[in-house]
Amino acid sequence: MRLSQFHLATVKEVPADAEIASHRLMIRSGMIRKLASGLYTWSPLGLRVLRKVENVVREEMNRAGAIEMLMPSVQPRELWEETGRWEKFGGQLLKIKDRKEQEFCYGPTHEEVVTDFARNELKSYKQLPVNFYQIQTKFRDEIRPRFGVMRAREFLMKDAYSFHLTQESLAETYEVMYQAYARIFTRLGLTFRAVQADTGAIGGNASHEFQVLAETGEDLLAFSDASDYAANLEKAEAAAPAGSRPAPSATLQRVDTPRVRTVEEVTHHFGITADRVVKTVLVRGKKGLVALCLRGDHDINEVKAGKLPELPGESVLASDEEILAAVGVRPGFIGPVGLPDSIPVIVDRSVAVLADFVCGGNANDMHYTGANWERDARITRVEDIRQVVVGDPSPDGHGSLQIARGIEVGHVFQLGNKYAQALDATVLDDQGKKQVMLMGCYGIGVSRIVAAAIEQRHDEAGIIWPEPMAPWRVAVCVINPKNAPEVNAAAESLYNELSARGVECLWDDRGLRPGAMFADMELIGIPHRVVVSERGLSAGTLEYRARSASESSAITRDELFEILG
Ligand code: ATP
Ligand code: MG
Ligand code: MG
Ligand code: MG
Repeated sequence: MRLSQFHLATVKEVPADAEIASHRLMIRSGMIRKLASGLYTWSPLGLRVLRKVENVVREEMNRAGAIEMLMPSVQPRELWEETGRWEKFGGQLLKIKDRKEQEFCYGPTHEEVVTDFARNELKSYKQLPVNFYQIQTKFRDEIRPRFGVMRAREFLMKDAYSFHLTQESLAETYEVMYQAYARIFTRLGLTFRAVQADTGAIGGNASHEFQVLAETGEDLLAFSDASDYAANLEKAEAAAPAGSRPAPSATLQRVDTPRVRTVEEVTHHFGITADRVVKTVLVRGKKGLVALCLRGDHDINEVKAGKLPELPGESVLASDEEILAAVGVRPGFIGPVGLPDSIPVIVDRSVAVLADFVCGGNANDMHYTGANWERDARITRVEDIRQVVVGDPSPDGHGSLQIARGIEVGHVFQLGNKYAQALDATVLDDQGKKQVMLMGCYGIGVSRIVAAAIEQRHDEAGIIWPEPMAPWRVAVCVINPKNAPEVNAAAESLYNELSARGVECLWDDRGLRPGAMFADMELIGIPHRVVVSERGLSAGTLEYRARSASESSAITRDELFEILG
């Protein structure tokens, strides 16, 4: 691709809501542009990367014997009524009406549609097992869309659904999918971990999440330092041996707390959205203490200096030290605590350490009292006081638990007969008897993977793509193409040869100054860069630098082809 004929639009400014590196870099490199909350346009550059991920996923799904199809994203209410999920799915389900007032939802997932397809198409056990998949747009009306495409409302998912006559067959396909997922994330160059996950309300027998390890991940994972045991925190808690730690002293109670404002109330008061809230402090108002949420771009000193609107009445802000002393928490604690005067408030970690914040609101009228703040658990859900902390014995009896953060990029699940039963999806077995099918489902967040990869691989200058995800493998940069026709000709011939060898190559023929050109190539993360210059031409060399290297070196054309394989 000649860059002068492409659309590359790198920018310096990033919006204030871009809290994490991947979000900032996707905006700066011009990969994505925000349309509205949780809705992003993939630019030509971004789409090249997205397609790379999609293709690796597709190849491995095909190799694992799954069959691609495509289902509608708009789904009729009646079908969702059959499984009871029209009501049960909750606020993430976007409901829409057509001109005849008929109701639909925009699919957040496709169990209903695929099971409807299966009940009509599959008649005999001889057609089983079968595993259908699609790569398609989903919509979930997330409470807190954030981190760009990481937690978007509209996003691209690969979802697969397998159908079986027996549990053995389901377990077999589940294992095949598990292995395919491991291959996909390995090929994409991600550092990941498969962890046991709760099967929750669905029941079923097995579920694993594939988690890309990253400090900014929203999920907490527990793993043993002495065995293969790894689970998400919910699952680890459920598996924790009874009595392994004293029950938390905190209890959830309905208490009369008219002075305590929820995050929602306070954010509404200040006209800010919840995802902009990064810390909660206490305000001593006329009538007592209230919790005040601050915006991410203000620190407590600015607030004290009166740079934020204050609550009505005479508000006196407590200092961080006062807050800490009042609630008696150690730095690092996140969660609900009770004040000595028994007015419960939410205190988060940023109040304690003013960094690495996770925010949560107290449920209306429901608060913990008597919390035991000696436990330095990494609590992220305010509704919950963690049962499992670092150093606890591993539930498998080997070693002790470590806690890490992860980004969920994939999820495999043995659903059992839940959907097939509800939708009466049956086949005839070898005795000619009707049997409800068993199902597995297997999801991958295709668009989330792009952000997760950047989260793991970037530096000051920009993105460092693993080769299989890079928009192009090589950037050919020309110094002064306008003034030196022979340099331009050499670059063109190199570009042609690379293209002929099947190497995806971006020829930066924009005529920018070297500094600006190199900065762009580093920002968009092209793994290999070669510079064609007058000086190099006369010496018979090219200046080569790997994106991950700190130095460049002079190499010949043949050496370049060798590096690129
Ligand atoms: P999360 O816990 O992050 O909300 P989930 O468990 O709700 O994800 P699944 O229903 O398991 O998601 O969907 C399969 C995959 O789709 C997830 O593993 C994740 O990679 C991706 N995904 C889910 N929600 C989003 C989202 N809002 N934006 C981008 N990708 C998403
Ligand atoms: Mg979710
Ligand atoms: Mg999840
Ligand atoms: Mg999941």
